Amino acid sequence: MPFLPLEKGKVGMYTCGPTVYNYAHIGNLRTYLFEDFLRRTLEYAGFKVQHVMNVTDVGHLTDDGDAGEDKIIKSSRETGRSVWDIAQMYTEAFFRDIERLNIKRPTIVCKATDHIPEMIELVKRLEERGFTYEAGGNIYFSIDKFPDYGKLAQLDLKDLKAGARIEVDANKRNPHDFVLWFTRSKFEHQAMLWDSPWGRGYPGWHLECSAMSMKYLGEQFDIHCGGIDHIPVHHTNEIAQSEAATGKCPWVRYWLHGEFLVIDREKMSKSKGGFLTLDRLVQEGFDPLDYRYFCLGGHYRSQLQFSFEALKAAQSARRSLWDRVSQWHRDESKSLESLHSKGKQYITQFQQHLANDLNTPQALADLWAVVKDPDISEAEKFLLVEEMDQVLGLRLTERSTEQLDPELESLIREREQARKNRDFARSDEIRALLKSKGILLEDTPKGTRWKRISSL
Ligand code: AMP
Ligand code: ZN
Repeated sequence: MPFLPLEKGKVGMYTCGPTVYNYAHIGNLRTYLFEDFLRRTLEYAGFKVQHVMNVTDVGHLTDDGDAGEDKIIKSSRETGRSVWDIAQMYTEAFFRDIERLNIKRPTIVCKATDHIPEMIELVKRLEERGFTYEAGGNIYFSIDKFPDYGKLAQLDLKDLKAGARIEVDANKRNPHDFVLWFTRSKFEHQAMLWDSPWGRGYPGWHLECSAMSMKYLGEQFDIHCGGIDHIPVHHTNEIAQSEAATGKCPWVRYWLHGEFLVIDREKMSKSKGGFLTLDRLVQEGFDPLDYRYFCLGGHYRSQLQFSFEALKAAQSARRSLWDRVSQWHRDESKSLESLHSKGKQYITQFQQHLANDLNTPQALADLWAVVKDPDISEAEKFLLVEEMDQVLGLRLTERSTEQLDPELESLIREREQARKNRDFARSDEIRALLKSKGILLEDTPKGTRWKRISSL
């Protein structure tokens, strides 16, 4: 399908952001990585991308429906910290994670708690246009007033048995109606409350994404992304309330959803616990970019099976790439225009693979083909890798100019000597000591390299 933005050369892109009641798990991070591959591909193709992402710092509900416990309150109860502190702490952790994965920071990051007036405005518009009703103190969206309801997920509403999967709220006229504004909380000790025309309360789950995306990207925009689980409820409800409020259709021109990261055939999920974080991967000796490489190797619309063995394979592949590329240098007299036809062909192929529904596994294969090609000079390879890495984001041609503390330098030299003497116990001891100081070592045929790990 060709991509045609609303305005030539520009792209408005909204991606659903994190719910900050816990650390992001590596499944969540897979989705943010896919969105970064998309954004970088669009920028590489010459578009100016306005990327907006929300931070859900108002408590989500633990279920798809309106049942369950507010997740931020739950976390607050379990840790004894205030809801505001919890949201702040996990927001910072999230941005640390995406930086380490070399995910570009969105052009605009917007917090739900900073946009309550915009959400109230949206509910007022829906009320004026007759899409809402009040019941039991809450304001609901009536899906029966919106005949297109469920078009994204191609939902057959007759097939969806009321109450089969979700606890049905007795106030609802249709079980798939959803709350726009709560004044009657099911949860005690609700800490985040705001005044509204319907009473003191808080917004429903889906409202923030419609209100904030339209504020920053306009009432109609180009791309909306998220994980595949958002199709049947969250994005379906976002579309209903946005199109109902503005009367403009389509609200969003292109929807892209990332498939799940799975472990032992089970989806990794925040609510269930037992999830892996990026910090855990780092503690196991991986570089965050190993995980980036691992995700590039799977197409975003296919499930990706995670295992530490598979991550190890990604790690050695990435290190091997890095080792080769680190031996090459930029030749200032060379430019992409001066490449031989074979080099140019690689670029064309790379672009075609990305343009074909973001085929990152093929794009990665193109990079390897360049690296291994005996007919291309090293200076040309350097240029081609640098070009491709604008999208792949593996930092392959970046060179560290940072000087290490002399004491740490001397530990690295001592370890090299210990390795030469086959004193592996001392060598491992020094590696562990450096790791505790935030320095990760990689042994390569060209000697030992070091890297700073900001998270430890
Ligand atoms: P949340 O913070 O729970 O709202 O999730 C953030 C993003 O991660 C959403 O776009 C989800 O759809 C996505 N997501 C949740 N679980 C997974 C998973 N196992 N694999 C990939 N993406 C996921
Ligand atoms: Zn959203």
